[in-house]
Amino acid sequence: MQYDLIIRNGTVIDGSGMPRYRADVGIAAGKIASIGRLRDSAREVIDAEGHVVSPGIIDAHTHMDAQVFWDPLGTCSCWHGITTVVMGNCGFSLAPCAEKDKLLVMRNLERAEDIAPEAMEAGIKWAWTTFPEYLDAVERTPKGINYTAYIGHSALRTYVMGERAFSSEANEDDLQAMKREVRNAISAGAIGFTTSRTRNHQTPDGHPVASRLANWNEVRELVGVMGNLNAGIFEIAGEDTGVEGPRVTDYLGRLRSIAVETGVPVTFGMFSTRRAPDYWRQYFTLADETAAAGGRMFIQVHSRALNVLLSFETVTPFDRLPLWREFRKLPLAEQEARLRDPETRRALVDAARERRQERPVGPEPRNANFKWLFPLDRALPPYRSIAQIAEESNKDPVDVMIDMALEKNLKMFFIQTLANEDQAHVLEMMRHPRSVVTFSDSGAHVSQIMDSSLQTHFLSYWVREKEEFSLEQAMRMLTFVPASHWGLRGRGLLREGYAADVIVFDPARITPELPKLEYDLPAGARRLKQKASGLLATIVNGQVLLRNNERTGALPGQLLRGPLANRN
Ligand SMILES: [Zn+2]
Repeated sequence: MQYDLIIRNGTVIDGSGMPRYRADVGIAAGKIASIGRLRDSAREVIDAEGHVVSPGIIDAHTHMDAQVFWDPLGTCSCWHGITTVVMGNCGFSLAPCAEKDKLLVMRNLERAEDIAPEAMEAGIKWAWTTFPEYLDAVERTPKGINYTAYIGHSALRTYVMGERAFSSEANEDDLQAMKREVRNAISAGAIGFTTSRTRNHQTPDGHPVASRLANWNEVRELVGVMGNLNAGIFEIAGEDTGVEGPRVTDYLGRLRSIAVETGVPVTFGMFSTRRAPDYWRQYFTLADETAAAGGRMFIQVHSRALNVLLSFETVTPFDRLPLWREFRKLPLAEQEARLRDPETRRALVDAARERRQERPVGPEPRNANFKWLFPLDRALPPYRSIAQIAEESNKDPVDVMIDMALEKNLKMFFIQTLANEDQAHVLEMMRHPRSVVTFSDSGAHVSQIMDSSLQTHFLSYWVREKEEFSLEQAMRMLTFVPASHWGLRGRGLLREGYAADVIVFDPARITPELPKLEYDLPAGARRLKQKASGLLATIVNGQVLLRNNERTGALPGQLLRGPLANRN
């Protein structure tokens, strides 16, 4: 047999959790054709001696909906071994929406997900109105990795209700129109429906995003459409219930009912928080109870602390203080010069002691908590807190930050931890049988958060350094498990007949690199970029997308449509 590509001499970890074995992997026509000792020839050969050959990683929580149109590779996800992403999470999709109304949909995305409207304006050729038309547009767009998309409630509501979406409950006509659009979207291959009810999701003018105006009956009716079709997943950015009491009980009860009544799998993200260390546990209990009652529920978890990255290049915790506000408008080099001037610096340090009262939304900068603020000076934890360094060196914590930043000409990131502080909890959540490790938010929070590396963090930190998981377990959790939850047929395993989404990596070297800030979005908008080392090849649908994490020029990615589209 003539293969297109043979990966020789590697160690296969096939995604199922079964133990590794040495074998060659032969690929033809985009599929895994054969695994074993292959004596045939191939147009292209990769020597994987000393490397692991495994399925490409699947990241099921991204916001690549806009980025897919201007970034053919699918960065930063593709640099971390990810070959398939799910987008349209948390109610934010770009369809349905007519071009004339696109500013309304962008309003939902701009603040909630930190995607610059200039970038969206310059980078997207708006070629759709309905969700099926959006899928067609994604299908036509050249892509490095595979994408699958949810229809988002905020876009849907805005499409049907216009400006009223931001102020009113839906009437009966609105509801019928929304149900029709969900039915059309799922039938055309949307992978599900998403919504947000969290106050972390606001528009730039401080209003709730459109989905937050929906009452629960609206949500239940829309999820019910998927139930009737027996297709689609429901993802929800959850309600702010407080940590205990009747509102929590009520919300958990509604989640369980919607899962049990509709039969639709329900999924959401969950973090531990130092303010209520055991809050997360009731959601895992809920997932078990829901299953016992006949529903399906699985919980998206992270592999490390939820961190916002701060820097003089982006935002600092002091930017809103009066003296700092003016200072921070200066070009970076000018800021550096002033910080090297003792008098100016003293005034800024003094001013930084003041606290601001406004409530930050989502990952927006907040008052510095030096105990939970760390210099990002290496790729993996542990990190020493600014408070600790300040105490040891008998300095003001603000001075510590300034000194460290000046050493790098202000090109230095600090981590402000927002959640998942306790790594024992992180581990416990990752190990729960109803959890799935995914939640990069890739494509969103582009200058605030850089979690496209959560999977390479998993492989380097939890597998290699901490030895909490075998590589077999970890690869199963990052490939087979998400492929199964999201119903991605023929993906997530290295098996004959499966799509040839494959990564070849060195388990002794795979590690996220330090992030950088770049101004490479459309219209020159800024974003954080992070790569990883240790990846020899990333193969998508049988073609090599990246070699040593550098692009080859191939763009083999596909739109993956949900089950109803594939049935036709
Ligand atoms: Zn999200």
